[in-house]
Amino acid sequence: MDLHTSEPCRRAKDFASRPHHLHIGGEWVPAASEETFSSYDPSTGAALSTIAAASETDVDRAVRSAQTALEGSWHKVSPAQRQRLLWRLSDLLEKHAEEFAILESLDSGKPLRDARLLDIPGAINSLRYFAGWATKLNGETVSVSPPGEWHAYTVREPVGVVGLILPWNAPLMMAAAKLAPALAAGCTVILKPAEQTPLTALRLAELSVEAGFPPGVINVLTGFGVPLGQAIVDHPGVNKISFTGSTAVGKSIIRRAANDLKRITLELGGKSPVIVMPDADLAKAIPAVARGIFGNTGQVCNAGSRLYAHQAVFDQVIEGILEQAGSLRIGPGLDPETQMGPVVSQAQLERVSGYIDAGRKEGATVLRAGTLPQGDGYFVSPTVLADTSHAMTVVREEIFGPVLCGMRINDHNELDAIAAQANDSAYGLGAMIWTKDLSVAHKLARRLKAGTVRINGGGLDPALPFGGFKSSGWGRENGREGIDAYTELKSVMVAL
Ligand code: NAP
Ligand code: MG
Repeated sequence: MDLHTSEPCRRAKDFASRPHHLHIGGEWVPAASEETFSSYDPSTGAALSTIAAASETDVDRAVRSAQTALEGSWHKVSPAQRQRLLWRLSDLLEKHAEEFAILESLDSGKPLRDARLLDIPGAINSLRYFAGWATKLNGETVSVSPPGEWHAYTVREPVGVVGLILPWNAPLMMAAAKLAPALAAGCTVILKPAEQTPLTALRLAELSVEAGFPPGVINVLTGFGVPLGQAIVDHPGVNKISFTGSTAVGKSIIRRAANDLKRITLELGGKSPVIVMPDADLAKAIPAVARGIFGNTGQVCNAGSRLYAHQAVFDQVIEGILEQAGSLRIGPGLDPETQMGPVVSQAQLERVSGYIDAGRKEGATVLRAGTLPQGDGYFVSPTVLADTSHAMTVVREEIFGPVLCGMRINDHNELDAIAAQANDSAYGLGAMIWTKDLSVAHKLARRLKAGTVRINGGGLDPALPFGGFKSSGWGRENGREGIDAYTELKSVMVAL
């Protein structure tokens, strides 16, 4: 059946074209200011929907409803019931997966095939993984030594009302990755999607009502970083902020949250190195390196954007990547054949193009920048830069676009020297190593300053902690650490 006449597509387009309100205390309400903004289809530049633009007053209202739920209805919900609610939400998401994939593709421009294969299943996996943790948040009994008889133990309590501030590159997946542990831990939330991609979070809020979450547990506020995001960070009733986005905004959140020492988790930018050793399995490495920088049009926090290939294989690797880039089907997100969609916005298009120009001016060889498809969408070509050096902005700064910087590893480079180059970055989110020599792989893994090291492949998994060293962030998401971050640890000591 033609995608555009399918039932899920009709539903997604209906949803996208409706005006949207804020979700506060289980109700849909306009912004107090009655202000709105538009969400756009990056594949065409056309406006999709009219969205309520929340500000301080709405935040205050949402915080009060989240606090009421935290102390009332949600407090009474047992861990097993929280687990069941999260599973119910994941089942509903699965039932509507195709509609969500289409909505995500429309709003963000990402290829439908990626939304189908990665984003929606990723969101479902997060909900299910953390559902299991709801019943496993145990403390410990502790042996203490003062004179007398004692019973001492720890308990994990929900940190409280949490503000979840999201980016636009993986809107639903990020929403689920933050919502799931927060809810499993017993917190109530105020979720702020990025202004560019609010739609799937709003649709998820509808499903959360259907799943049976009590009013006020999940509040969704749409709007801009300032005033909305800032008001969430500043509100004294918000106990924790979990933020994914730019390092600049992450730093501003730290400063503002210092006022009341809010808990913070930050998942920020990256400039992740990919190391290809001379013995690497190039048939696997080349397509993976290409996917790692061109996937999601390079708008991935741990995109492998700095390539260090051994000089024995450098030319072959670059040629292979150019070939992959040349064969990518670039087009509108909703075309099921599209492998690379547009970037998310005009601003992002200008930002990425600006970096490519800067690279050229600084002396990089532009091996491929290619022509763009016609039309009004925000399209940029997969780009490969060679002869780049660490003095260049294209190597130092996060581009968040499909731009690979290629550098050679010389024959005499020792592992320490290779690692030193890879570590010569303000960031430390991800790193990838391609070699058949396990000893080399593990030696490099030890030396790399990165939150996640992938050897000969790998992806995201909700069980595996994810986060950054250095300017890539604070704390970890996913895994045990990911749920602990939504709790406070209380020690109780009893004189017997
Ligand atoms: P951003 O400004 O950091 O946006 C991320 C989120 O924070 C959005 O929801 C944003 O709202 C909100 N926000 C903005 N200013 C805020 C403030 N002062 N207080 C609280 N919240 C605030 O990122 P961007 O401008 O969309 O993208 C710029 C660059 O950030 C990208 O090019 C990329 O380098 C990096 N980035 C990294 C990731 C990642 O996964 N680590 C994700 C996205 C972007 P608005 O939607 O209104 O801006
Ligand atoms: Mg949009």
